[in-house]
Amino acid sequence: MTTARDIYLGTDSGATTSKTGGIYADGTPISTQLRQSSTNSQAGTAAVIAGWVEGVQGFLTENHLSWSQVRGVGLALPGPYQSYGVLAKSANLPESFIGWNFHADYSAALAQAAGRPIALSVGNDGDLGGVGEAARVRGDSKATVLLLAPGSGLGAAYIDAKGLPLTGDQFAGMEAGHMPVPLHVLGHGLDKAPAFRCGCGRTWGCIEAYSTISGLPQYLDTLLPKYPGHELATSTDTPKHKALSLRGRAQKGDALALEIFDTQARALGIHVANLAMALDPGIVVIGGGLIDTESTTPEFRQRYLDGIRNAAAPFLFPAQRERMKIVPATLGELSQAIGAALVALYSVKA
Ligand SMILES: [Zn+2]
Repeated sequence: MTTARDIYLGTDSGATTSKTGGIYADGTPISTQLRQSSTNSQAGTAAVIAGWVEGVQGFLTENHLSWSQVRGVGLALPGPYQSYGVLAKSANLPESFIGWNFHADYSAALAQAAGRPIALSVGNDGDLGGVGEAARVRGDSKATVLLLAPGSGLGAAYIDAKGLPLTGDQFAGMEAGHMPVPLHVLGHGLDKAPAFRCGCGRTWGCIEAYSTISGLPQYLDTLLPKYPGHELATSTDTPKHKALSLRGRAQKGDALALEIFDTQARALGIHVANLAMALDPGIVVIGGGLIDTESTTPEFRQRYLDGIRNAAAPFLFPAQRERMKIVPATLGELSQAIGAALVALYSVKA
């Protein structure tokens, strides 16, 4: 017999893979194992909804839980949105998904599966990942949290004293990856180079291009001429493969790779200071592949985080320099499913 302990579940839907996680009413994760399945977007919106419900059902079964315990569900889905729960044109989903009211459809499907209405909260993946990380680092405090997570793009979120993300009136709040970097401050020869291109189409030198995988080929174009004997100078590998080799090269002390990641750290640190002028957070959490404990050495992670801290420090106010913490993320791929479940919990409690 299962206990009647209340639970909140989180669906983290990427363009290709959907994951399900959950928490108890005190916020502690039910499991560190996410249930994973294909998002199946090519089969249409009904198939996506069926997959999300199947994920919840499977998670309940695997953890010996029942629908009667579910008090709320959260969903993390990449934006942009037209309005709350309604998708706009998304880079990685079919055109036919534009205008899809996923909140209404998922609510109806959850109600059918549970035999009663289930409260559903939705938000974009970066915001909800921030909610998950913030709950961990702030503990019992009311500290506000800025999350910056460089991956293929730059995930950014600001979590307020209530634990909720800043979403903005147009659901474009904290799209902070597309703010420009002050190139004259960044230096390293990049002040003389043309502004890096960004996937968003802006040409003003978005921080995303200077701090994530997306900009690595442009770093190579700019900095490789300084290293004429370098293996990559004569390699016939694709620009993408060359870029993806850099993290491994840096772990082995490759000077070019280290210069690139030092510059990424410096760019991100300047951006931390830039955002601190507007947000004044208590804690800054750095996520992404350069602090991944399975792919990087402790020395490399330390060097990266110190690079961020040292670049931010001169531009901060004294009280921020003294008290604002810059720490690595700890939840890894759990963050968005757990964050989605937390938003469901906070919404029901409010
Ligand atoms: Zn951009």
